[in-house]
Amino acid sequence: MNIAFIGLGNMGGPMAVNLVKEGHDVLGFDLMSQNADKAKAAGVAIAANAEEAVANADIVITMLPNGKIVLSVFDQLLGRAQKGTVFVDCSTIDVASARKAHEMAQKANMLSLDAPVSGGVGGAAGGTLTFMVGGSDLAFEKTKPLFDIMGQKAVHCGADGSGQSAKICNNMLLGISMIGAAEAFNLADALGLDKSALFDVVSTSSGSCWSVNTYCPVPGVGPQSPADNGYLPGFDAALMLKDLKLSQDAAGQSGAATPLGEHATKLYDAFVEKNGVGHDFSGIINELKTQSRS
Ligand code: NAD
Repeated sequence: MNIAFIGLGNMGGPMAVNLVKEGHDVLGFDLMSQNADKAKAAGVAIAANAEEAVANADIVITMLPNGKIVLSVFDQLLGRAQKGTVFVDCSTIDVASARKAHEMAQKANMLSLDAPVSGGVGGAAGGTLTFMVGGSDLAFEKTKPLFDIMGQKAVHCGADGSGQSAKICNNMLLGISMIGAAEAFNLADALGLDKSALFDVVSTSSGSCWSVNTYCPVPGVGPQSPADNGYLPGFDAALMLKDLKLSQDAAGQSGAATPLGEHATKLYDAFVEKNGVGHDFSGIINELKTQSRS
């Protein structure tokens, strides 16, 4: 397949490389020449501009920072590809922009999918991402072989925007559950309860969840996690904050009550404001520990 890949950053670069390794013709483009050069060194052909990249593509994949940029890139490129090309946006963006991107693609006689990912940079490099996909059956069927190369699972969640909806619901729950796990371990500590004992109970009881069982925020407890590596990411708290903010935009627009999602957003906002980037989201346990009970 001829694939255009727009946005060759931390995620897009290794995803494009995996497609090349499986024998696909990938023509990439990135505004930052240093990211384009890195992908080129790993085997991805680089176009002189984005228009050239999409001109003969069967599938155009975008992996970009936010909804505004995705919409401007769609606007720039939809008229430059052959009719019937599938535009697959793998960026994490707001649901409203994702739906707008589908609308624009349909007007231009293109097929389209919103297909954000879970799994981070390690999953992108290892080809083990999970894709959450919204859009038509036809577009999904055409793109599925590529999802199978770049990831280990692709769930077709439903109509336009469903992929982004699934992503922010999942990550809102993750943000809330990590704070819950952190509070439980901090309370245990204050009560003089051994943390390993609490892990042994919770991980096999009704409080069990991914944030405890797989990604425990306490060093030396449970399987290896960023807590055992000085809270280096992992999943950066700044990216968790981005996803929580997207969840709150969507909650506001749809009228869903998400009081814990709202509170988790405030807590991560304060955490990122104080610590900047480069800290795993599970490090919020240490921030909560410094707070006094009001
Ligand atoms: P990144 O900043 O490393 O990469 C984005 C790339 O897009 C950059 O190289 C940038 O130069 C390029 N770009 C920006 N505007 C462009 C344009 N108009 N034309 C061409 N290229 C352009 O970001 P990333 O970490 O690769 O994340 C990409 C997306 O994936 C984001 O939406 C992010 O939320 C999502 N995501 C990231 C992770 C992660 O762990 N990094 C995990 C899941 C999802």
